[in-house]
Amino acid sequence: MPISLPPLPYAYDALEPAIDAATVTFHHDKHHAAYVAGYNTAEAKLREAADKGDFATVKHWTRELAFHGAGAALHALYWDNLGGNGDGPTGALAAQIDKDFGSFDAFKKLFTAATVAVEASGWGVLAWDPHSGRLSVMVAEKHQDLAIWGATPLLVCDVWEHAYYLKYQNLRAKYVEAWWTKVNWRDVEGRFKG
Ligand code: MN
Repeated sequence: MPISLPPLPYAYDALEPAIDAATVTFHHDKHHAAYVAGYNTAEAKLREAADKGDFATVKHWTRELAFHGAGAALHALYWDNLGGNGDGPTGALAAQIDKDFGSFDAFKKLFTAATVAVEASGWGVLAWDPHSGRLSVMVAEKHQDLAIWGATPLLVCDVWEHAYYLKYQNLRAKYVEAWWTKVNWRDVEGRFKG
């Protein structure tokens, strides 16, 4: 069964002025949609290869599956992570952030620095790693690589240029600063099962 593009969970202008309606429209309707379509194509090609027993292109299509599958999942999380007022975490997540990073402010500085420093395209990620029992700040260059397998991403910030270039051009740090003001911490808290 093909996957489908999840509808944007709020209006296209809901993230204004931090993230403008035009960027959200292109980002969701074109870029996110392309990952969903790419995943479905790769999945169909791999199923066809399995049915025919012809694996000549299996390396290409497994890479495509990872690229578009990770892109589709991260974009769904990115939209769900936004639409709030950026007020900050509470409860168990707040306590875990204090435990693992010292304070919310220290976490925010680390997440911001790591995200702004992503080379070319990628993501800043806050993830829960059940193996270590810790929250980690990670980055994904592109997004199919450098995963901690089994870790659950809780909060992600897209720093591919399509996420900010219309409004912020090369000023990625300005976009990240504005992005923080729209984080929906109730959504992030709901994903934390530590
Ligand atoms: Mn994106």
